[in-house]
Amino acid sequence: MPERFECSRAHCGWTGTHHERKNNTTGSWHASLCPHCYGGMFRTIEPAQENERINHVNELIKAISKHGDKLFHSRGFTAHMEIDKNGIVWFVDDYSRRRIYTHYHGSWRGFSHGGTLRDLVCAMRDYVKKGHKIPLEWIAPVSVNDNSNIWGYSQESAQALRETAAKLPVISE
Ligand SMILES: [Zn+2]
Repeated sequence: MPERFECSRAHCGWTGTHHERKNNTTGSWHASLCPHCYGGMFRTIEPAQENERINHVNELIKAISKHGDKLFHSRGFTAHMEIDKNGIVWFVDDYSRRRIYTHYHGSWRGFSHGGTLRDLVCAMRDYVKKGHKIPLEWIAPVSVNDNSNIWGYSQESAQALRETAAKLPVISE
């Protein structure tokens, strides 16, 4: 994994590699800027830890990002989760590219999805921490009121996604 950086601007928090930063050369002056806010200050992010359950939740995020409205995928980047050496679970948002502290109970700055998907991220965090599997009904759920799909997935893509998800270790039988 190449070294990753986090934009130091509090309202931004973009994360990415040096290669993804925006190079700006003016005469002899050279700067490497944040592609979201054009800030020039970064922190280095410590490498994420290898973790089997993190791999499992990322398989689910990938499956979701490949079906229907491709939630968790924006502008060529798929969201993912990671765990650091202190056991903290992070969600890296696909749109804001911000690394979100998933143990926080207040609103999540930089989280570009709605409440249902936040609940899912929390359930994935709990799976990573405690091994509690996620019921298949949580994936592309159907509204009890009008039978529509809460994520906006068509019936066919929701069905295809659930078939894929059902085989994943993070989903309960
Ligand atoms: Zn930034």
